[in-house]
Amino acid sequence: MLIIPEKKSIALVAHDNKKKDLLEWALYNKGSLCAHHLFATGTTGSLLQETLGVPVHCFNSGPFGGDQQIGADISEGKIHALIFFWDPLNQLPHDPDIKALLRLAAVWNIPVACNRATADFLISSPLFSQEYKKLLPDYGPYLNRFKK
Ligand code: PGA
Repeated sequence: MLIIPEKKSIALVAHDNKKKDLLEWALYNKGSLCAHHLFATGTTGSLLQETLGVPVHCFNSGPFGGDQQIGADISEGKIHALIFFWDPLNQLPHDPDIKALLRLAAVWNIPVACNRATADFLISSPLFSQEYKKLLPDYGPYLNRFKK
């Protein structure tokens, strides 16, 4: 079990065709969102900073490794939730990174919103602003499979 604090670290990513959607959503929810530490891929992050007027930790732009940086932080327990408005209608050069990010979010059992409706459900959950005891799958048997 892992304790996720009241004040969470939340990563936000939006593909180009979804940036407007994410910025509108973030502005509408500024009150709840800005109670947390915000992280984002490069371009999304600078637009969020401009729109919300709060600091956002910016990783590299997505195609230059930003998704992978967020994935690495998820695997180290440093990112607690992911708002990821990916573009379902276009192929992107960093599709493998996008898949990897979504995969790590599933491995580490973090909440993920891939569209605005899910993001609405996520942000309006009481758990969004409360401490949360997160269960982690038991990876012990897998990790120890070659131990005698
Ligand atoms: P960006 O990256 O925020 O730098 O545009 C997002 C992405 O394409 O993954």
